[in-house]
Amino acid sequence: MASCNEGGAHPGNAWHPQTAAVRVAVPRTPYGENSEALFLTSGFVQPSAEAAAARFAGDEEGYTYARYGNPTTASFEQRLAALEGTEAAIGTASGMAAILMLCMGLLKAGDHVVCSQSMFGATIKLIGSDLAKFGVASTFVPQTDLDAWRAAVRPETRLLLAETPTNPLTEVCDIAALADIAHRAGALLAVDNCFATPALQRPAALGADIVVHSGTKYLDGQGRVMAGALCASHALVQEAFLPVLRSAGMTLAPFNAWVVLKGLETLHLRLQAQSATALRLAQWLQAHPAVARVYYPGLPEHPQHALAMRQQSGCGGAIVAFEVRADGAEQARARAFAVLDALQTLSLSTNLGDTKTLCSHPASTSHGRLSEAQRQAAGITQGLIRVSVGLEHIDDIVADLARGLDACAR
Ligand SMILES: *Cc1c(COP(=O)(O)O)cnc(C)c1O
Repeated sequence: MASCNEGGAHPGNAWHPQTAAVRVAVPRTPYGENSEALFLTSGFVQPSAEAAAARFAGDEEGYTYARYGNPTTASFEQRLAALEGTEAAIGTASGMAAILMLCMGLLKAGDHVVCSQSMFGATIKLIGSDLAKFGVASTFVPQTDLDAWRAAVRPETRLLLAETPTNPLTEVCDIAALADIAHRAGALLAVDNCFATPALQRPAALGADIVVHSGTKYLDGQGRVMAGALCASHALVQEAFLPVLRSAGMTLAPFNAWVVLKGLETLHLRLQAQSATALRLAQWLQAHPAVARVYYPGLPEHPQHALAMRQQSGCGGAIVAFEVRADGAEQARARAFAVLDALQTLSLSTNLGDTKTLCSHPASTSHGRLSEAQRQAAGITQGLIRVSVGLEHIDDIVADLARGLDACAR
């Protein structure tokens, strides 16, 4: 099936990742349930007043109140940490809540952040606009230009933040090289691993200090719940992030934690299958006369193909973007809309990471709030379509996209 590498034994754990994904953190209750229990409780009964005092003071292990922690959430955190190869993880209500926790936990007024200019739109807004109000400065640099990252670092730089591959143009950055730049500057590197997931890429093994997740995407994998997480050392989780969770309350709901915990069990299978289908779709698109350009790290023509294959277990991932051939922006938009409106099987939706293939027009949706100049700079043209490849058969995916594309080629 897939040409991707299967991945070796898990660092720091005797189990292979596939085994860890179903076996880590299954604390059974006396009933002996085989599937992980879901603890829907906001409070916990204390054995004694003395124990309650010790738990609140942090001197004794034990659950007190679900904003601080819940056994189902803890199982998700332990399993995700095992897959990412970090000592610990902390769940959050959404991916953006995780990035807010990252910033609140690590930064203060006067600090500086260097961030890829191709990050998720809300991340750019949070770092560039919202954090600026609290006196944190930021510089946005081209994702793949290491010299630009180096040049942007200042004495007060505390954090470098990247996302690889990026959305929607699948630019790949060199995680190990960015970790080196960060550490030479006395800063930390955080990597948003939403697109590749630990099934394909483990940023911590390449030197990243913090791995950021939107659990809403591939970790759930079936488009059901919002979730997020930060994976890092025990020290960072306990000393920098847990205090923020306790006071600011961006807590992952136990039900959502249970859904993503179970989602992790099939993560490897899904990513391998979706990546294999994405590669076949990218190859088909490349050969179609109505397609001007295909963006997919699994294609040898992708500018960072070799790096992507090295860094992502030999897989391109499950996101493919392509531009329809057209004369000018107006015709490009009309053709992209025609391809999307001709879909009968695939979903017209701006989410990603689902088992159902999702198609979107970034220029008018996820990147619709940018000015035309900003969009051009980011390479988000009016003819661009993003496909988050699901688990349907490749022939059905191709047939659905062919309906609109064949009409353009005529
Ligand atoms: C969706 C997404 C986020 C934000 O996650 P939410 O769960 O929607 O808050 C962050 N980063 C990337 C790369 C994403 O795709």
